[in-house]
Amino acid sequence: MIYFDNSATTKIDEHVLEAMLPWLREEYGNASSTYMLGRRARVAIESAREELASLINAHPAEIVFTSGGTEANNTVLKSCLVESALAQRIISSKTEHHAILHPLAEVERQGYEVLLADVDEWGRVNPAELAKHNSKGTVLSIMHANNETGCIQPLQELREQLPDVFLHSDAVQSFGKIPFDVQEMGLDFASFSAHKIHGPKGIGALFVRKGIDFKAHQQGGGQERNRRAGTEAVALIVGFQHAARTAVAEHESRAAHTARLVALLRHELRQRIPQLRINTPTEYALPHILNLSFLDAEKLDGEAILQMMDMKGIACSNGSACVSGTMQPSHVLAAMGRPDAEAKAAVRFSLSKDSTEAEVYRVVEVMAEIIAGMRS
Ligand code: PLP
Repeated sequence: MIYFDNSATTKIDEHVLEAMLPWLREEYGNASSTYMLGRRARVAIESAREELASLINAHPAEIVFTSGGTEANNTVLKSCLVESALAQRIISSKTEHHAILHPLAEVERQGYEVLLADVDEWGRVNPAELAKHNSKGTVLSIMHANNETGCIQPLQELREQLPDVFLHSDAVQSFGKIPFDVQEMGLDFASFSAHKIHGPKGIGALFVRKGIDFKAHQQGGGQERNRRAGTEAVALIVGFQHAARTAVAEHESRAAHTARLVALLRHELRQRIPQLRINTPTEYALPHILNLSFLDAEKLDGEAILQMMDMKGIACSNGSACVSGTMQPSHVLAAMGRPDAEAKAAVRFSLSKDSTEAEVYRVVEVMAEIIAGMRS
């Protein structure tokens, strides 16, 4: 199989799995227990917290482990409005992941003010345009990089233009792929997930800047300094630590490798397939993603393209959600101004450190055949 869907999830690294196993077998203690077995689990968690914090230039007390990016996003948005009562409104953008857009729809339904900013044709928000919303009592939540197109948002400029807001960024796709520094970006909150960087599924983190009076959204025990109740998943946290360590240490070589392959993919697809539109910017994009659509999309069937690729042993995806059996256009491409048909038949390739040149050539070959077949 050729796996070109690394934005959906990645293969867990062998060394990550090895590091986790003892914490699933003999080291089964509850980190809140005071005897030796529990204390060892506590030490493992706190060591992971320290390392993760240092990788994003934060303090360990600023890291809250969660079950993943979705929980980190829900927690920050809802706690800011409700439990922590730090803000009365949230500004975000139309191209955010559903793990932002759906909780926002829910809080809007509950009566909070939500505003979704437009993006340009490459999916970027306009910091100067957003500047008019600078005010205390506002959360600005803008993803670092988009999961469908790889487009990177101008977070530093946003911070400069909106100095008074609480700034949150969903960094699930960018962390470990490109440099990420909470101080440089002036972030108050950020969300992370391990399974996009060859770590385990079901674990992530929320960065909460020190000094912010942040209260738990999920109540129960006093874990995570009363900011997230629930027995800590020691093995997953250790797995996250190892995956994050390697991703950050190797990010330059991984980025160089995937960027070279994506450039080749971009070039070869253009050579072989007419009427192609590339939706991933050449500047301001993650190195490993390529999103494309077709100018004659009304003649093509997006779902069938993916199924035929699958039958040829190629895993890739698009941003369209399949709701009750019908394809919905990608909300990201729609916000970027692509017509409905095009936003329904897009294809996203997302590569990894393990992808090869031979795989790129094979994918181009198969894709060109499928599209030519559909057009004739
Ligand atoms: N945010 C973005 C940008 C994502 O791409 C994803 C996963 O696809 C999530 C959040 C959700 O993260 P998790 O799967 O860890 O809940």
